[in-house]
Amino acid sequence: MRRYKIAIVGAGPAGYFTAQALQKAQTDDISFSIDLIERLPTPWGLVRSGVAPDHQKIKTVSKVFEKIAKEPKFRLFANIELGKDLALEDLRDQYDAVVLATGATKRRRIGIPGENLTNSLSAADFVPWYNGHPDYVSLELDLNCETAVVIGAGNVALDVARILSIDPQALESTDIALHALEKLKSSKLRTIVICGRRGPEHAVFTPQELRELLKLQGVNVVVDVTQLRSSKKRVENSFYVEKEVVNNLAIMELITASNKTKLEKSIEIKFLLAPIEFRGSNKIEEIVFTKNQIVNGKATSSEENYVIKCGLVISAIGYDVEEYPGILVENGRIKNTAGHVEGNIYVVGWAKRGSHGVIGTNKSDSADVVDLMIKNLKEPKNKEGITAILPHSHTIIDQLAWERINAAEIISGAISGKPRIKETDLRRLLKLGQG
Ligand code: NAP
Repeated sequence: MRRYKIAIVGAGPAGYFTAQALQKAQTDDISFSIDLIERLPTPWGLVRSGVAPDHQKIKTVSKVFEKIAKEPKFRLFANIELGKDLALEDLRDQYDAVVLATGATKRRRIGIPGENLTNSLSAADFVPWYNGHPDYVSLELDLNCETAVVIGAGNVALDVARILSIDPQALESTDIALHALEKLKSSKLRTIVICGRRGPEHAVFTPQELRELLKLQGVNVVVDVTQLRSSKKRVENSFYVEKEVVNNLAIMELITASNKTKLEKSIEIKFLLAPIEFRGSNKIEEIVFTKNQIVNGKATSSEENYVIKCGLVISAIGYDVEEYPGILVENGRIKNTAGHVEGNIYVVGWAKRGSHGVIGTNKSDSADVVDLMIKNLKEPKNKEGITAILPHSHTIIDQLAWERINAAEIISGAISGKPRIKETDLRRLLKLGQG
């Protein structure tokens, strides 16, 4: 029997699905001890700090993660940061393989003047803020304005627009961070404008998420009819069109047909607008776009500008990956070949692919990387693992400690009819873990 020790860094969906693939790959000849290492005192990654609070059903995948954690030879080591508490070199020396499942959570910049103005934020700040991520609790955000602009035509842009426009009462029964709920209750926002730089046919919303706009209570959703008509014509004249595009256009047509007006709040989806400058004295006041046109299937500037006045802008244009010494980052992902980085280091999830794909995408993707890793494994090293390299004084949140935190959050949530109230203070999280 060959017994291997595998370290997975990052306890988000890709990390758990890698553990699951390793557990499933065990035979009478090969076994895996899995140490799942996480920077925060809490696991689940984007399921906890990325998935929107009005999407509670998606979060039930955490039940799968907890099942994986109950399997033999699985250990959670949370509250341990790679590059700070542990060096990657030491980790790769102690384990037969190291899998980086560190995600892509860094702000991606558009690279235009004015991006640093006050109230110019990224979804990389705003999303973890409303989800109670300890690092974003004190995000400076002013909702004392009438109009917010969201840059990008993807699912995160939809999440951001929904959270900004939804009646906060409807979020009371969710696990949204309490500080976010309070702030949203006092919001003066009336109009949220989502701006895509290409046409409606190029939007990367998934139909399921786009369709939700039809059900949004008290919010009028507007799509430009002329832009939609031109888009449909281009699609009809195309040689090949993906099913998702056809579905998205059909949903946008339903949205235009169900235009309610006279509602207090609205989400406007505008296309063919590429931001070229954020303007304001200290704080964002307006965004200058170049109006694009579609020429031979490509978005090209028409040289005509368009200005939207706003008091808040949130860019939702994808995320960049965290960098580690000795690891190359290329095109928004850790440089890899089919998940192999180099030597005994592998990468999965958004760190491997860039910020693309939904939670489920990680299942098959992690399984493929595990297959490759197993093919490459040499004789087991039989080393001690993490305990050989972590200072004894370091506070570890193991599975038992996490279960204490989890139970405490669920209990405090139950009292007020919520699935949980997330603890957002790092020190209090550690205390809860210690019992
Ligand atoms: P995304 O799907 O890659 O969308 C990014 C958007 O930003 C695109 O419309 C892109 O336009 C635009 N963009 C990129 N650079 C830009 C620039 N410089 N100026 C203006 N626009 C720019 O990214 P995301 O929305 O962050 O989502 C990441 C992944 O998470 C996706 O796979 C998404 O489906 C998934 N997700 C899923 C859910 C769900 O299932 N409920 C929720 C949230 C996120 P171009 O196309 O022109 O580049």
